[in-house]
Amino acid sequence: MGRKPLIAGNWKMNTDAVSAPNLAREVLQKTSRLRNVDIAVFPPFPLIPSVLKVLDGSAIGVGAQDISAELQGAFTGEVSAGMMTSLGCSYTLVGHSERREYHLESDELVNRKTIRALEAGLIPIVCVGEKLSERDGGETFARVERQIKVGLAGLSKEQMARVVIAYEPVWAIGTGRTATPQQAEEVHEFIRKLLATLFDQQIADATRILYGGSVKASNARELMSQPDVDGALVGGASLSSDDFAAIAESAG
Ligand code: PEP
Repeated sequence: MGRKPLIAGNWKMNTDAVSAPNLAREVLQKTSRLRNVDIAVFPPFPLIPSVLKVLDGSAIGVGAQDISAELQGAFTGEVSAGMMTSLGCSYTLVGHSERREYHLESDELVNRKTIRALEAGLIPIVCVGEKLSERDGGETFARVERQIKVGLAGLSKEQMARVVIAYEPVWAIGTGRTATPQQAEEVHEFIRKLLATLFDQQIADATRILYGGSVKASNARELMSQPDVDGALVGGASLSSDDFAAIAESAG
């Protein structure tokens, strides 16, 4: 379908003022010859300026791991989408399962954040995925359907054309347990069909749907060879420039 793969590295609450720019520099060096893949990194908020400086002028995008649903004002501790754009960020994660679980983010809040990101000119990577109990209870598709329907509610087709989706089964994040390529593909295919009914076929065909959950250099190629898997959202393995570059290479 001609979708350019995207490899996104979620550094979570790791790295510091020294190691973050160093990691960015290594990623830049080790991926600079890759042309057929988009790459983005998601450092913790305070380290973003130093990473942007290292990656200035390169093709590697930088994003926030979260943004506020609010525009600005008296929201202590929150960081707005506009601040991220003004720094030079191009992406933000929205609705990562760790935000949903530890900060009780609802599908409705994810929707508000997604719209906020788009209004500020950021590309939102909207994360969805079922918990183990939901998978075991046969609720995977119903859970993902609600997350997509509510998370993307009210978006115009023009806005949706700028959204990336990440399917991340919660039971596979940071656990070393990866979905099989077939398990990933059946949910990705389901999401794409859902996008066709919610928006249109053209949007569905063009939307990048990333897989996330213990992606490693050793399993990335097989996962991304599935027809509806358009890249990866990588947590743990993105902290090693060698592993992250190898994952990017298997996409490009
Ligand atoms: C993530 O943080 O989105 C993620 C998928 O983490 P990991 O690759 O460590 O499972």
